[in-house]
Amino acid sequence: MQLRVYNTLTRQKEDFVPIKPGQAGIYTCGPTVYKYATIGNMRAYIFMDELRRVLEYDGFKVKQVMNITDVGHLVSDADDGEDKMEKSAHETGKTPLEIAAFYTEQFFKDMDALNIKRPTVCPKATENIPEMIAIVQALLDKGYAYETEDGIYFSVEKFPDYGKLSGVNLEEQRHGARVEVNDFKRHPIDFALWKKAQPNHLQQWDSPWGRGFPGWHIECTAMSKKYLGEVFDIHTGGVDHIPIHHENEIAQAECWLGHKAVNYWMHNEFMLIDGGKMSKSLGNTYTVDDIVARGYKPVEFRYFCLNVQYRQKINFTWEALASSKTAYDKLCALLWAHKCSDAPADPAALAAFKERFEFAVNDDLNVPLALGVLWSLVKLPKSADVYKLALCFDKVFALDLDKVTAPKEENIDVPDEVKALADARFAARKAKNWAESDRLREQLAALGFAVKDTADGYELSKK
Ligand code: AMP
Ligand code: ZN
Repeated sequence: MQLRVYNTLTRQKEDFVPIKPGQAGIYTCGPTVYKYATIGNMRAYIFMDELRRVLEYDGFKVKQVMNITDVGHLVSDADDGEDKMEKSAHETGKTPLEIAAFYTEQFFKDMDALNIKRPTVCPKATENIPEMIAIVQALLDKGYAYETEDGIYFSVEKFPDYGKLSGVNLEEQRHGARVEVNDFKRHPIDFALWKKAQPNHLQQWDSPWGRGFPGWHIECTAMSKKYLGEVFDIHTGGVDHIPIHHENEIAQAECWLGHKAVNYWMHNEFMLIDGGKMSKSLGNTYTVDDIVARGYKPVEFRYFCLNVQYRQKINFTWEALASSKTAYDKLCALLWAHKCSDAPADPAALAAFKERFEFAVNDDLNVPLALGVLWSLVKLPKSADVYKLALCFDKVFALDLDKVTAPKEENIDVPDEVKALADARFAARKAKNWAESDRLREQLAALGFAVKDTADGYELSKK
């Protein structure tokens, strides 16, 4: 089925046409590893993962690159303020390297817990400095950049297409409406390609302009080109990156290369918390660990995220997560019942469900619609064939549907008669009366219940 994706650049859904048939190259702006990733951040990476999984479901060989930003992301988008890594280092007394190593590991732990596939390559900015210096030099040579007292800046007025991704108007920006004015710049939204470092700056490298460190935007251009080539298929990130970070990436890449660098720009909308922004002061910058600490499984959070299409805002509340958990448990219980059935299903009916599923995920990743298809599917008469099809869908959902187990007794309706039989069987077993225990097991089976012995008793499930 033809995949269609919404391209932020053209503001419309388009057929996805890869550069090389059967292959897809994706670049995703990765985390700045100076703190724990929030569940909002993780929404961006669940989206990245869904995109990859849909492409793989469609038979594409995907090369996915996600950088690790471990230098150059300043506290202010106006190229002022401290580097986030340096700030964290000063606050904790650790080195930027130690901080980056710690939070990168935490980030991968969160990704694994949420069933987000590890990208093909995760290059670190600090390991690609020569590549960045080469691009900055080329931009200077071509007249797109200029040197100031504190760094090398890209001149946005030299790129007539500046603003094409977000509709930014250079004249409005000149008056510092959204970005504070930095005295060294010719235009307020010129941006730093390279910053000259003070002697006490912790992370700095030699360059043709003295000791310094790269600007954040140039990192993504250098690493995407290095691993995906001069033109690649898809670039992703959150919507907050559209007006500055991605606009700047487009400007510097197109001026450097002399042509378009990315075919499709895809952006996920934000996750809100209790209807508002996540913020430290409100104490609601939740992490995956917070979710686990409240007794939820990370996969239940993934299920929660999949219920809203990536271009829509999603509102996280603990109540909404609780409802998602209830729904997810029910889904797993229904799937368990299918798994345990020997009855065949109508192949034509299954084929129709598969088609509906494929239509949904290929329509700009309409995963909520695809989940709806799964819910209709599990309402079919019990059959292991239904379960098999659900597992096929789970290549995209990644909801651990292959791990469903018998629902716990409290989640199923157990008639008194069944409970009495199960207690009697347990007593017989304890008395080592195996014949009686087997007879009662068969009686339970005839009533549609399976019984499993556990360390501290037994568990009933519906067959
Ligand atoms: P950062 O480490 O701040 O660059 O963010 C990493 C990714 O998470 C970027 O793609 C951001 O756009 C995205 N992001 C940040 N906050 C949220 C949020 N509340 N909801 C969804 N995505 C977010
Ligand atoms: Zn980036």
